[in-house]
Parts: sequence; C-alpha cells; structure tokens
Amino acid sequence: MRRGDGAYRGGEDDTIRIAGLEVYARHGVFTEERKLGQKFYVNALLNTDTRAAGQRDALELSTDYGAVCEEICRFLTEHTYALLEAAAEHLAEDLLLLFPRIKALELEIQKPSAPIRFPFDYVSVSVRRGWRRAVIACGSNMGDKEAYLRGAERGLSDDEKCRLLRSSSLRLTKPYGGVEQDDFLNGAFLIETLYEPEELLMLLQRLEKEAGRERLVRWGPRTLDLDIISYEDAVVCTDTLTIPHPDMRNRDFVLRPLSELTPQWVHPLYQKTAVMLLEELEMRNGGAGSAGEKE
Ligand code: ATP
Ligand code: CA
Ligand code: CA
Repeated sequence: MRRGDGAYRGGEDDTIRIAGLEVYARHGVFTEERKLGQKFYVNALLNTDTRAAGQRDALELSTDYGAVCEEICRFLTEHTYALLEAAAEHLAEDLLLLFPRIKALELEIQKPSAPIRFPFDYVSVSVRRGWRRAVIACGSNMGDKEAYLRGAERGLSDDEKCRLLRSSSLRLTKPYGGVEQDDFLNGAFLIETLYEPEELLMLLQRLEKEAGRERLVRWGPRTLDLDIISYEDAVVCTDTLTIPHPDMRNRDFVLRPLSELTPQWVHPLYQKTAVMLLEELEMRNGGAGSAGEKE
C-alpha cells in the first residue's frame, strides 16, 4: 500500500485487534457515575506492521497487545472524563504516543450501563486517529538563516505530537515574488504528526513567532517562514489554510526539497508525483534550476 509520502511499504495494512476488554472506571456526566463507577468495554484495532515479528516470531518486533491492554486499563481507571468522546480522544493519543509501532488505531469505548431509561445494549463512541505524514517547507532570508532553519527543525522534533523523519538539504535561492531583498536559504522537513492540519499550522506560526517573524510586506524578508506543502494526500481549502500549497508547482525552492524527501508523493489534484512536478517546472524554465546547494 502507498500512503502519506507515496512510498511503498509492505505490512502497512496489518492489524492487531483487541475485542471486548472490560474496564471498571468512572466516566460520566452524573455525580453517581463518577462516585460509583461502572463497566466499560473497549475494542481496539491497532494498525501496526506485523511482518518482521511474523517472520522472526519475535515479540520485541511487534506491538505487545498485553502491554496495550494494561495501558488501556490504567489510563481509563486513572482518569475521569464526563464524556466518552473525551475518554476516547485522550486514550487514542496516549496509545499512539506510548507505542511507537502503532501507526493508526480505531478505538471504541462502550458503556452498557449508561443512565438511559430504556432497554439498550450499550452506547459507544469510536474514533480513528493516527500519525500523518506532512512536508513542511522552510525559508529564511534575515540574520543567521541557517540557525533559524535549524531552530525550526528542533522546534518540530521537540514537540511530542511531531516526529521529524528527515530533513532535506538546504539551498540558497533567489527571492520570489518581486520584492527586492536578500537571498533565501530554503529546505523542507518530512514529519509525522498527530496534529490535524489547522493545529499543525498553529504550531508553525508559533515557531515563526519565536523566531521573531514579523508580517510586514507580502513575500517580503523574514527570519522564518514555515509552510505546509503536503499532508498525506489531503486536500484542504479554508480561509486560513490551503493544502497542498497552492503555488508549489511554480516554486523550484519547494519542489526540489520535496522531491528529495518524498519523490513518489502524488499531488492529489494534479495526479503527478513530486518529481514530475519538478521536471515540468524545469521544462517551463528552460533547463535545470539555478539554486546552489548548501549541503
Ligand atoms: P506563500 O504562502 O505564498 O508562500 P507567505 O508564506 O509569505 O506566502 P505568510 O504571510 O507566511 O505567506 O502566510 C499568510 C497566510 O497563509 C497564513 O496566515 C496562513 O493562514 C495562510 N496559509 C494558507 N495555506 C497555508 C499553508 N499551506 N501553509 C502555511 N500557511 C498557509
Ligand atoms: Ca511561503
Ligand atoms: Ca508562510
């Protein structure tokens, strides 16, 4: 299967299922529920590559479902939430952070003794959450440019809901958009994140702010610019966010690092890979790009 960055990975659809795990816990809106507690049942479908563990018959290469069950019980008994939605949301995040082999999961929490005055089997809430692959383009053309880009790299890898998978090489490029200014240092980061696109944008804007970024002139000089180029194969179009980045096909300084990090990623609207988009741009520009590579 191909997901996220377009690269082929066998075993990506493998799953481990936990069905009907019973936990006595204290979630609910009513005081009685929080005082007395009640039974909950948890179903979990863990998306985790089992191939290496299967081939070598080795537990340490898999996700230990015993340990996952322990953690589900610990988490649900040690916390109290008014809503099943909150319990499911926080438990899903906890498991994804604690068990690095779990790429995504489906979690259902059932409440068979919910305070409802009609006969019923159970009520439940289900969520599906997972690590998503995104490419973040970075640019700087003020002060110590490389230090700003390395600072952003650190900011991403220090955030517990982001994992830095790879950084591209950095290139000096001519300014884009017609404003007279210093050359840019550009690159990109391939990350895995638990953030939704809008939440990821908020993190990037916080990192820009920490780098002293001021928005004065459109496409003007900046200490740090971080743009979301791709987020899995998602298409997002809101007032504050457009993914994939709308101008990427015209930007050598975006397509070059993108092709380095995720050459087979397919643009969901153009249906072309990163490498194809770069080749098309080079053809339009009448030859290979002129940007000098930094490292
Ligand atoms: P460009 O997006 O053309 O490279 P820019 O990076 O100079 O221009 P900014 O001033 O940094 O533009 O951002 C303006 C707004 O763009 C942000 O406030 C943000 O809401 C919005 N935006 C839309 N799509 C994206 C995206 N994919 N990544 C980052 N910001 C985005
Ligand atoms: Ca930009
Ligand atoms: Ca930007």
